[in-house]
Amino acid sequence: MVTITLPARDLPDSVIDTAHGRIVVPGHRLPEKKVEVDPALVADLVKAARANAGRAYAPFSHFHVGAALVMADDPEGRIHAGANIENSSYGVCSCGERTALNHAAGLGFRRIKYLAVSCASALDAPLADRSPCGICRQAIKEFTAKDFSADDALIFIDTGDNSGVLCEVMDIERLLPYGFNFGGPAG
Ligand SMILES: [Zn+2]
Repeated sequence: MVTITLPARDLPDSVIDTAHGRIVVPGHRLPEKKVEVDPALVADLVKAARANAGRAYAPFSHFHVGAALVMADDPEGRIHAGANIENSSYGVCSCGERTALNHAAGLGFRRIKYLAVSCASALDAPLADRSPCGICRQAIKEFTAKDFSADDALIFIDTGDNSGVLCEVMDIERLLPYGFNFGGPAG
């Protein structure tokens, strides 16, 4: 195991007084968080996500994405994998992250431990081109602890073999500031 420190964020609100009322630009505050990470499991998940991108059905975008995750409440610690599945009716398309997550949630699991995503078609692209889309961020948030706990879900993003980096890592609060939250955690 290794200890990773997710850095604090401390951006204050910005307040602008106008003749019609006060406008607030919300800041963003997060405490520093130390998490214990199993690098062997992370490497396995990144490898599984990248391999599963080969199972994508992406005849329209040709953008192949694989995902692999383990659930904190799965005593067997099995790997759930998914890939993006497109459709002639574009609104039906599903991202790789959600095919993997919906599979795990459909088996009754409710807490993500680690989720790896690999945009195998764009491993050399900037982070924003390889990280989960907004819908997937919200889907991931639904199955995280929402309490800043040290064992909250971590999201690992494949950087490809040429980068010299295994992956990049974030938690959902850093990946989705102000994500919508209705009620408590899934369970
Ligand atoms: Zn997505």
